[in-house]
Amino acid sequence: MMTHTTAADARHCATDLAPDLSTASAPNDSVQPADRRLATTLAAEDLAEWEGGLSPHDRITCRLHRRWAYQCISSPRHIIAVTGHRWCDDCATGLTVLVDELTRRVELTCPCCHQTPNTRATEQIIRTCEASLHAAHRRVSSTRRTSWPTEKFGQTA
Ligand SMILES: [Zn+2]
Ligand SMILES: [Zn+2]
Repeated sequence: MMTHTTAADARHCATDLAPDLSTASAPNDSVQPADRRLATTLAAEDLAEWEGGLSPHDRITCRLHRRWAYQCISSPRHIIAVTGHRWCDDCATGLTVLVDELTRRVELTCPCCHQTPNTRATEQIIRTCEASLHAAHRRVSSTRRTSWPTEKFGQTA
């Protein structure tokens, strides 16, 4: 009697393993395209800039940090006083950046006068960062708004 049940259990185990293997490859497939899109966009913008058609300030990826523009715009390296990018002329101060990934809004505020400079440079940063937010999350938003990559990693681990 006992040997019979063990044999049945072993058979169940073998069939349970099979679907596990097929689902294990699925998460990898769904994670890769986001990275690939960043790599592809970086390469395309590198080329467009190199050929002289694209301004570095109009890029939605960062040549310096190799990331989406919104991911590194808060870096001090993105404060350019001469062109007015992330810069308040009145206070001679770098602007604070607020990136909201949920609403896909980017705000620039001066930490001194609490104003957003009404300049072409400010408009350009907000436009390119918001465009990079949309580009980076296009696939995620079309399926499910709440499934951020960080949550995905947490569930599989
Ligand atoms: Zn950067
Ligand atoms: Zn200011």
